[in-house]
Parts: sequence; structure tokens; C-alpha cells
Amino acid sequence: MKKSKEYEGLCWWCGGKADSQEHKYKRTDIIREFGEGPYQKALLRIMGSKISSGEYVQGPKSSRLKYSLIMCSDCNNSKSQPFDLSYDKLMDFLKINEDLIYQTRTFDLYNVFGENWKEDTDNVMKYLIKHICCRLAESKIEITNDVINFLNGGEYPHLWKLHLIIESKKVEWIEQMKNDKGWCGILSLTPLTGTVNQENTHWEHLIGSYNYRAYTFAYSYCYAYSQFSCNLTSRIVKFDFLKT
Ligand SMILES: [Zn+2]
Repeated sequence: MKKSKEYEGLCWWCGGKADSQEHKYKRTDIIREFGEGPYQKALLRIMGSKISSGEYVQGPKSSRLKYSLIMCSDCNNSKSQPFDLSYDKLMDFLKINEDLIYQTRTFDLYNVFGENWKEDTDNVMKYLIKHICCRLAESKIEITNDVINFLNGGEYPHLWKLHLIIESKKVEWIEQMKNDKGWCGILSLTPLTGTVNQENTHWEHLIGSYNYRAYTFAYSYCYAYSQFSCNLTSRIVKFDFLKT
């Protein structure tokens, strides 16, 4: 995966004119977590480790919550709509059942999607891969053909690992806020970080994550991965539990 690539105003998926902005944080996740807005107390989005580096967001449509023009509207809307719908269904389920899931560290995809759980789960993975691609394009990193093939119905790109994790520290935060009868919203991205080759031309490893409440979708790229790895393929999902 080349370290840098200029997209020159073209959609990273189909190569058409990029005229659409994808959300950095899924709009339905923002609304489920913080409400429809406009937010009476402006929402502080912390950009780095210091609160002083944050910025104020008035509502879920804020351009501050979106990527720049890196996709065409067809790819960002109708083409990826099934991915969005399956992802939303999963996240609704994970939120409604979070106490039990945090406790048992498992759930059944049949209870989320019914008979079509395999197809819907495949769509969830496609939504996440699309989200990763938007981050890569925004950072001017090459998106390889295996990833595009997957979104077009091909094999999963095995150089990417994808895992749904529960973070124990955030479970404690949420529990504490509920006990205090307070309000708690957690939605964040960790920075894309990694290592490049000696020639400084290609990424060898790259990691990042999307975090919703105590759930984390952790993803990593490694040029040397040879096997598919994802804990969202068996009907019974067993969580990795991250102690922080
Ligand atoms: Zn497109």
C-alpha cells in the first residue's frame, strides 16, 4: 500500500467526480448517542489529547464531522446504502443490549438480523471497510484493488484485520455515569498510525479504530498478513476484551 497518492478530486471507489462528503462518525451513531441537535450545549470534539485543541459542533450535520470531497454521491449513497442499513441495525442492537453484552461478552448475530445474518454481517464489514477507505483517501494513502473488489462483491481483503472489541475502562465509565444518573456519550476515532518500509514508499503496518460507547472496531493492515481475521463471521460473536 503506497504511502501517498493524490486523488485529484476523484472518488476513491469508482474514479468518478468526488462530490459527496462521508461522515467521519456515522450520522446514526451521532444521533443515537447525542440526539438530533442542534445541541444546546455545543459538543466538544477533542482533536488531540488536550481539551484546548477541541472544536465546537452544533449538530450531526456539521461539516466538522465529515470528510472532504473524496467520494461521488452514487457510491456514498445508493451503492453503499445496504452496508449502512445493516451497520445501523447492528449498532441499534449493541446499544439496546449493551449491559448484557458487556457482561456476557457475546451475542448471536441471528438475534440481530434473523435468517439473513450472513449477508447482513458481510454488509457491516463492507461499511467498515468503506469507512477505513475514506480515512485512507483523506490521508492521501493508496487504496488497493483488493479492497475495492471486496466492496464490489469480491473476497474479503485479507491484508486487513477487523475486530470488534469491548474496552473495559469505558464499560466502567458508562456504569459510573448511569449510577450518577448523568449522561454519557462516547464516539471517537483513534489516529491512523503505523510504520513504513525503509525506502519510505509503502506502509508495512497501519492501525486505527472506530469507537462507539465501550465498543471498538479495531482494524489493522499488514502487508504480510496471509489469513483472513475477523470476529464477525461466526453466528455467535465472541468479543476480545481490552483492559486499559
Ligand atoms: Zn464513486
